[in-house]
Amino acid sequence: MADKGEIIYRVNDQDEIVYVNEQWDRFAVANAGEAAASSQVLHRPLWDFISDLTTRELYRQVLKRIRDSSSVRFTFRCDSPNCRRMLEMDVRLWEDGTVQFHTRTIWEERRQPPDFPETGAAGNGDELLRVCAWCKKVFVNGAWVEVEDAVVQLRLFHHEFQPLITHGICERCYEEMSKTLAEA
Ligand SMILES: [Zn+2]
Repeated sequence: MADKGEIIYRVNDQDEIVYVNEQWDRFAVANAGEAAASSQVLHRPLWDFISDLTTRELYRQVLKRIRDSSSVRFTFRCDSPNCRRMLEMDVRLWEDGTVQFHTRTIWEERRQPPDFPETGAAGNGDELLRVCAWCKKVFVNGAWVEVEDAVVQLRLFHHEFQPLITHGICERCYEEMSKTLAEA
């Protein structure tokens, strides 16, 4: 059974999202807007919602690992404008062939919004900032740096328009995840 705040979704053997729990809507819509509501995501391929190529590759590795009949558990950062969060995801294969992703919050910390532009709502359309979805580092001038450094380097608060955010995964998180999968 899932507690409040635990998010569960399942994909079938075609990688289509076939189940999300009640918590999904509360969390997804709050963080990603109506486009992430269960009515919009059910029966669509998982890949419609992961645009970043490296992150896609990572999810492919996760799914392959799970379908080779094991489970895997890992932690990752998932912040919203008001909150920093560390989540734990538990992925396992069910008897009916679906793969379940079960996410729960390990810690959560309120913060003053916005210390960093999380959404691209005010973007001017031609600047795209790449942010690691796992550790929240930002890709600046060819390197992944901490948010605080990125704000300074990019003079983010001097811009009239905030850049648009796209989520990816940095090299270090990718290597750590691949290692986790290999050891699973
Ligand atoms: Zn990272």
